[in-house]
Amino acid sequence: MKLTVVGCSGSFPSAESACSSYLVEADGFRLLLDMGNGALGELQRHCGLYDLDAIFLSHLHADHCIDMCAYFVARYYRHDGGRCDPIPVYGPEGTEHRLTTAYADTPTASSMSEVFDFHTVKPSTFEIGPFTVHTERVAHPVEAYGIRVEHGGTSLTYSGDTGISPALDELARDTDLFLCEAAFTHGKENIPDLHLNGREAGETATRAGARRLVLTHIPPWTDPQVNLADARAVFDGPVELAAPRQSYEI
Ligand SMILES: [Zn+2]
Ligand SMILES: [Zn+2]
Repeated sequence: MKLTVVGCSGSFPSAESACSSYLVEADGFRLLLDMGNGALGELQRHCGLYDLDAIFLSHLHADHCIDMCAYFVARYYRHDGGRCDPIPVYGPEGTEHRLTTAYADTPTASSMSEVFDFHTVKPSTFEIGPFTVHTERVAHPVEAYGIRVEHGGTSLTYSGDTGISPALDELARDTDLFLCEAAFTHGKENIPDLHLNGREAGETATRAGARRLVLTHIPPWTDPQVNLADARAVFDGPVELAAPRQSYEI
């Protein structure tokens, strides 16, 4: 399984990175986790516009899903006059309505479903192409999911956006690569059930027994080196910062 960071900026894009978006590939299948602001442009560095096989949206905050509006245009109004076949899109309850209204004030009711095959995510285990995925509700002000992706005996766990969450501890149990948000700074911001700081991401990785920790979703106004040091202080395994265009073989 190969993970590529398409975008990893938290809350809004930085000069260097789009917002949340991660490409997971195995057996020629391409699953995209989130498509935040700016992700569609970056994605085209890594694969063709129409090469995605499925999309998972962790939640409906703009920094995780808003480029789906741009991707709708690319799939619905192809320059050759055709229209793309629908690809599976997994998201929380209301994903189609949210994206349709974000796209236009007076949406044509079913246009999006002509190019996206929407599936409502609940806490469960299911197959996406060659992957077995597990989803769990995490601690965020809107319905939000963490996801564990398994393939060939290895696993990747992505936190989505969350505060401290026992469900995430379980989801990331013994995972090979834990892609965990660390939007806040320890000792600075402390709002429950919103985001983790670097220390809390490290503590979550320790409780879960994760083998490797990659910190992500750090906003441009947060010093990533502080969060990296805070995570390293409480997690014994390898820790690094996500960076755009970085790839991992898992
Ligand atoms: Zn976010
Ligand atoms: Zn969010």
